[in-house]
Amino acid sequence: MRAMQIIEWGQPLEARDYPDPEPQGEEVLLRVEAAGVCHSDVHIWDGHFDMGGGRQISLESRGVQLPFTMGHEIAGEVAALGPDASGVAIGDKVVAYPWIGCGECAVCRKGEELLCLTPRTLGTRTSGGYASHVLVPHARYLVDYGAVPQALAATYTCSGITAYSALKKIRDHVGDSDHFLIIGAGGVGGQAVRIAPAYLGGKMLVADIDGHKRAHAAEMGAAATVDNGAADALQQVLQQSGGGVAGAIDFVGSPKTMEFGIGALRKGGKLVMVGLYGGAASVSTVLFPFKMMSIEGSYVGTLPDLKELLELGQAGKIPPISIESRSAARATESLADLKAGGKVRGRVVMTH
Ligand SMILES: [Zn+2]
Ligand SMILES: [Zn+2]
Repeated sequence: MRAMQIIEWGQPLEARDYPDPEPQGEEVLLRVEAAGVCHSDVHIWDGHFDMGGGRQISLESRGVQLPFTMGHEIAGEVAALGPDASGVAIGDKVVAYPWIGCGECAVCRKGEELLCLTPRTLGTRTSGGYASHVLVPHARYLVDYGAVPQALAATYTCSGITAYSALKKIRDHVGDSDHFLIIGAGGVGGQAVRIAPAYLGGKMLVADIDGHKRAHAAEMGAAATVDNGAADALQQVLQQSGGGVAGAIDFVGSPKTMEFGIGALRKGGKLVMVGLYGGAASVSTVLFPFKMMSIEGSYVGTLPDLKELLELGQAGKIPPISIESRSAARATESLADLKAGGKVRGRVVMTH
């Protein structure tokens, strides 16, 4: 197998060849045919996340060792089965659910592997899809994507379910006559703008500082769009929504966008924080009781979320994001393009 690996944090990836892994026990070996390049890969590549106030979490402190193979948006073909593996056959076309827990602790046994304290996530803790082959611990993490185009299906395992899972968290808050607000309509927010009209009621407002993304959101069905860089952005949202939105999702995650999201909520509203921009915001403590508001964090999504999203996709209800196919040899360039910003419309999906 060939892997594009981080040898040194933040430095160009290197192509390295290894013997093909042999699946043990219940493991399944996939031949990777599509691997999405996710914005969080840029942070992993850097080796740290910004926690605000000058604090950082390093990947090494979480047990990630170099050399490391990233890539958590994986689609491909089943290439080999471990002696105890069942549920898939060689040649099956599948996506891999990457957010895998230890499988043994209390939360994993309840099916809440995202909450596991000793995760084995593909491409963020264990070797991922920036390689010709990847080992998946069990066939239950492999999902048939049916008629959904393969590269698009790969993006559903992270950016897709991240958007879907966040929408799920405001769904019960948003009635048909309510408004909801999506902040940040590129990347994951762009997926949400596509999924929302098929998935929840209410009227969609979209805030983005980029006019192209606002225009695109309007095409996808936004009732109104707002430039959140404008001085009167909040007034515009309050006016459009008749006094505030029932639900908001912040796909940026900067102190400014979080404050914007809180300001946009009506009484009893809910803000879901998704974006990993980083930093720290100050929030008035009395706003929580006065506004009876809630703020919830959402991180990627569950295996059932992935199956539900692929069903919506197969039913033809989600307009596809634009996808640029690139060779895995261009992995470093693709990460650099994402880091620089504005150079990638939609998603880069690498082929091996
Ligand atoms: Zn991702
Ligand atoms: Zn666990």
